[in-house]
Amino acid sequence: MQKVRPKKHLGQHFLRDTTIAADIVSLLSLHQGYTKVLEIGPGMGVLTDFLLQQTAYQTWLIDIDAESVAYLRKKYPPLDAFIIQGDFLRLVLDRLFAEPFAVIGNFPYNISSQILFKVLENKDRIPEVVCMLQKEVAQRIASPPGNRDYGILSVFLQAYYDIDYAFTVPPGVFEPPPRVQSGVIRLRRNRVSQLDCDEQLFFRLVKQGFNNRRKTLRNSLKPLGLNEAISQDPLLDKRAEQLAVRDFVHLTKLQGNEL
Ligand code: SAH
Repeated sequence: MQKVRPKKHLGQHFLRDTTIAADIVSLLSLHQGYTKVLEIGPGMGVLTDFLLQQTAYQTWLIDIDAESVAYLRKKYPPLDAFIIQGDFLRLVLDRLFAEPFAVIGNFPYNISSQILFKVLENKDRIPEVVCMLQKEVAQRIASPPGNRDYGILSVFLQAYYDIDYAFTVPPGVFEPPPRVQSGVIRLRRNRVSQLDCDEQLFFRLVKQGFNNRRKTLRNSLKPLGLNEAISQDPLLDKRAEQLAVRDFVHLTKLQGNEL
């Protein structure tokens, strides 16, 4: 079959190494109570080949690229009804997937954060995610507090998912090679159904805290109008990147509904 021409604006870097592809797919635990797996950006199906070896779940594919989708439909005729041509960021998930499903993919790196924000919006239906991203982003998401890489997405995702950094993938195994190293991570939904605080306030506080990540929280959170209780907390002398999820929850509770 004629190969898909890689298109830069779609973040297309096709993985050539099937051992790595198998390793990525094997990170799916299958113990999280889902029967469907949605692959984002299958391209020519290097991961799909391994997904289809599993009968424990039903594989769905979404790719924005018409050429890739035509390729996939030819390659996997029985999968026809499970292949979606479209933008994952615009996909209305409730219509397609009423039950829990896992997400897997070598993500287009330019939109990987947006994909993960969408996962967060649907966290109660997405028990597991296995994905390849630009290495720095993967590290940031998996990184514990105290690290310079730690940021908003790390806090939000770590609030609801247990995250492991699995392995690094060098540029040379892709066609064409990306300029950056890649990293594979796995996210598994934790037991937190709701944070033990006002979640909207938590999100605002975290965002505001990282707005000026080099300032202490006392300064970066000032625009929110801090109350007496929170002002006296020693955590305010730290910077956002030093705080774990539970610390932000603690501060959110102190600030209460007064913002
Ligand atoms: N999984 C393949 C391809 C990875 S490249 C491999 O490992 O070889 C990223 C893929 O994501 C491309 O196929 C690209 O067409 C697709 N893509 C880019 N933007 C997308 C979007 N918004 N929604 C769905 N797929 C997208």
